[in-house]
Amino acid sequence: MPKICFEASKHIVQFHSPLKNGELETQSLEIRRDPLTGYQSVLNEAFRDKIAFAFPQTDYDYLHQRMEDTIGQCFMCEGKWRLASPRYPRELLAQGRLEKGQCALFPNLFPIAPYHAVVMVGEKHGRTLEDFSPALLFDALSISLEFIGRCFEVDPKCEFFTINANFMPPAGSSIMHPHLQIIGSPMPSSHLRVLLENGLAYHRKNGSCYFTDLIETERQAGERWLGEIGQSGWFTAFSPLGVNEVNAVWPNRSNFMQWGEEDIQMMAEGLSHTLAAYHDLKFSTFNLSCFSGPLGKELPEFRCLLRLVNRQNMHPHYRTDDFYLQKLLKDEMIVYPPEQLASLIRQGFR
Ligand SMILES: [Zn+2]
Repeated sequence: MPKICFEASKHIVQFHSPLKNGELETQSLEIRRDPLTGYQSVLNEAFRDKIAFAFPQTDYDYLHQRMEDTIGQCFMCEGKWRLASPRYPRELLAQGRLEKGQCALFPNLFPIAPYHAVVMVGEKHGRTLEDFSPALLFDALSISLEFIGRCFEVDPKCEFFTINANFMPPAGSSIMHPHLQIIGSPMPSSHLRVLLENGLAYHRKNGSCYFTDLIETERQAGERWLGEIGQSGWFTAFSPLGVNEVNAVWPNRSNFMQWGEEDIQMMAEGLSHTLAAYHDLKFSTFNLSCFSGPLGKELPEFRCLLRLVNRQNMHPHYRTDDFYLQKLLKDEMIVYPPEQLASLIRQGFR
């Protein structure tokens, strides 16, 4: 197995600081590079002193007030979704929607892809991150996978699906009620295209799969390793795409059509652990995307990959954490060093 090389370069920055009476200030930067995509991220330890300014802690009074204020107009709450949500044509879903336990799947009113479903995650409107049980997530993910399989059955050209979530307005969600979004298209998203192309180039060069090599490299290195759930491997991202990023890889699954109940259970448990750990760290929002290779094709160079990141916490006078660095340059800030983040999250995996 080729060992994956985690590249980082160190830089010294000096300037006379008015915060120190004009004395010479020296700060050290570490610039990290993702081994597969080349995406960079920056760690400046001095910035961490300003963390409360750039990443304010969750204001729980505000969070609960927002939950209370939005519950009356929520189209999902108290079974309102049964009347208010759209339905798929019978040819796609016999009942128009899918239901399991407290979870329901229906079309997005304003799709951004040929297939774009919303999955209501439970009947409860206001949840904090410790409140996502594996059983609840299992139900939500089960109907997501059922939907993906059904779409592929009726429209095999639509082979690129992702399972996604925006949780809370700072993560881009327009509603507070917990939900997932399933997106399917004949074309991969820009990032999935990069993962597939670079994964193929790695496979041609090394004769092995980057994603399974990554699990083994992280497991052996240990400092970012969280643990295994079933066969899935969980770790913090060396050079994250978003703050406090946690990744998971399914080493024997290159696309969602290969997933069985045990794979869904692995994702539900790992997500539940990680969200609870985020909650303990007083984080209150997240985005996630789970990537699959083209449905029905067993690619030797790709494995299913989950990316889970924080966004700004809920607090008044919100400021988004995405700025040009992330949106346009596709570089990212590191707030908690991934190795320290792993030490803080790892407990839930033991
Ligand atoms: Zn609601």
